[in-house]
Amino acid sequence: MAIFISGPQRSFRKRRSDFSTVLCRKTLLLITSGLVLAGSSFPAICAPALTQEISDAPTPSLRMPPPDPARIFAPLAYPTPENAFRTGSGSPGPLAWQNRADYKIDTSIDTQNNTLTGSETITYTNNSPNALEVLWLQLDQNIYREDARSSFSSPERHGHHTDGMVIESVAIESDGHSTTIKPLISDTRMQAALPSPLSGKGGKIQIRISWHYTIPGTWGGRTAVTPSKNGNIYEIAQFYPRMAVYDDVRGWDTAPYLGQEFYLDYGDFDYNVSVPADFIVVGSGALINPSDVLSKEEQTRLEQAGKSDERVMIRTRAEIEAAHPDNPPITRKTWRFHMTNTRDVAFVASHALLWDAARLDLPPISPAPGKPPAPRLAMSVYPVEGIDSHGWDRSTSYVRHAIEYFSKQWYPYPWPNAINVGGHGAGMEYPGLVLDGMNDRDPELFWITTHELGHDWFPMIVGSNERRHAFMDEGFNTFIDAMASDHFNHGEFAPKHDGEYAPDTGRPAEDILKVLNDPSAPILMAPSDTVAERWRHPVSYFKSAYGLTLLREQILGPERFDRAFRRYISLWAFRHPTPSDFFRLMDSEAGEDLSWFWRGWYFNNWGPDYALTHVDCLPDTQAQGAQITIQNKGWLPIPVTLQVTWADNSTSRIRIPSESWMLKQTLTLNIPGNQVVKSAELDPDHVIPDTNRSDNVMEIQSCQKAGKQPNPTH
Ligand SMILES: [Zn+2]
Repeated sequence: MAIFISGPQRSFRKRRSDFSTVLCRKTLLLITSGLVLAGSSFPAICAPALTQEISDAPTPSLRMPPPDPARIFAPLAYPTPENAFRTGSGSPGPLAWQNRADYKIDTSIDTQNNTLTGSETITYTNNSPNALEVLWLQLDQNIYREDARSSFSSPERHGHHTDGMVIESVAIESDGHSTTIKPLISDTRMQAALPSPLSGKGGKIQIRISWHYTIPGTWGGRTAVTPSKNGNIYEIAQFYPRMAVYDDVRGWDTAPYLGQEFYLDYGDFDYNVSVPADFIVVGSGALINPSDVLSKEEQTRLEQAGKSDERVMIRTRAEIEAAHPDNPPITRKTWRFHMTNTRDVAFVASHALLWDAARLDLPPISPAPGKPPAPRLAMSVYPVEGIDSHGWDRSTSYVRHAIEYFSKQWYPYPWPNAINVGGHGAGMEYPGLVLDGMNDRDPELFWITTHELGHDWFPMIVGSNERRHAFMDEGFNTFIDAMASDHFNHGEFAPKHDGEYAPDTGRPAEDILKVLNDPSAPILMAPSDTVAERWRHPVSYFKSAYGLTLLREQILGPERFDRAFRRYISLWAFRHPTPSDFFRLMDSEAGEDLSWFWRGWYFNNWGPDYALTHVDCLPDTQAQGAQITIQNKGWLPIPVTLQVTWADNSTSRIRIPSESWMLKQTLTLNIPGNQVVKSAELDPDHVIPDTNRSDNVMEIQSCQKAGKQPNPTH
């Protein structure tokens, strides 16, 4: 997601007691076999140490007392304990499990009334050790109801309403019996009480649901009917009742949908979409009945696209305008799609869409069980409003770059196609399909396309809990996007400099100070729903992304970081990592106890602040070398570069490690040299977010006084 919603700002109120409860929770996990596993325990130190820690957060750097190394470098207790499901090294444990939801969905869109009618069969597999007496599902369309909780948590949503998702029937099928049940609906959640418990360790059940709902207008944001010159565009997402996640961290995760994002289990999807015959439908996964819905010519063009580096038009402007109907046709077509191992699907349907495609330079894969491997495609669909050599004419080249670059750099893209949709500008991601703006142009279109497709890695592949930890999808994604901007077309749109990253000057070390110095800024570990809109981009996106940049560039170095981060992605691909898993994995794989960094950057808004207090010639020399004293005034001891400039304007550089500040806050360095020191500077490249740069440069102080050399700065 990448869009600001205008409206009244909510102020951030940190719920201190809730948070420390989570942090200090000691979990005992009862396994049905009777085995009892103790979660990691932090008994004696947990309460006082963390209470103190939380009482400081979020404390901005400018208001901080002098740094206390005993607190900065204290052991950090991660919120989720390690156990048999999640290990101390940050990997899934030997008894790791997660449940599975496979979907068969039929939908039909009534374009006269803008309603969607659906029925589905979910096959739910309970791999947990526990029997389940109820299932929880998510009815995301209920966010548009007038009485939705989100209408009150975000009153700007109060302008437009639908009746939400109207559930027509729910039945449970088990052992050949079908039992109709009356579900319990609470806001965006639905509980289905089972006629008999669903056993753990692989028990399966089928749940059949029928529903309908009114599709919102563009005010719906992530899903909408969008008008365009040649007809409405149906941007369809969150369109079916979806299983909530039951996990080892908290059981059923039923946080209501207040406008943040999602948490979903993986499975295979077969979904069918019935629309007027003149529509095209593009959707997540692969179209598996092209001969039923496409003309011979369109099928031939798609085959050509599979061999072409340049885009091939599948449906042209002339074809749309020639066929523009005065009245919707009576005939309908059903488009059938399949997607393997995904947490969600979405699609777009319209008469008004141009469609182009080009090959993805990735190995062919089978689009559905029993089908031979086929070339994979980058595709774009957009109305005539998007046609522009600075606009959607280039979209598919952006899609190709994002998918191929992220695949090579981090983890291979697993699905058949990747589609960019030019709609009203939701700026929203779904597996294999993203919803962007038909009016986006040049860098904005490149950045939004790359960002939304980057979500295919976070959270579509690495399935973290977006509803609770926005920084793990938005920030991790924004981090890889900034690198993608540098990589594209010799830096045509670099550096990334938009609402998501370095929004003010394009220099992240400067722009982040607004967050570090504002006492109202939330911390990265704050639950997603408690982050006020005005902080969502600066914190969940920018601060999180810049944290990884600092880790990569300033703390670990690219080789150690990239290897560890790839390991994180591959170990947690199609799984559910928590922030604690990420912290532990980076500690373990990168080979560094980063507690001080996690504590300062993620659990607090602490920043580095270094100062030069003394620059002189080396004592007892004939004005040679340099003696330099540095003071640490900050709570985030990121390694910093000291640059010494000599009389002939040559320079020397020294890296000052974090450990310098474990026992002292003042460090004096004697630096050999064969000439007079002229000046010294800390962080000369402005790559760390030093909260006060006014004391980072100092010229020679006393050699002249000692009569050894004239002051070289004159
Ligand atoms: Zn996003």
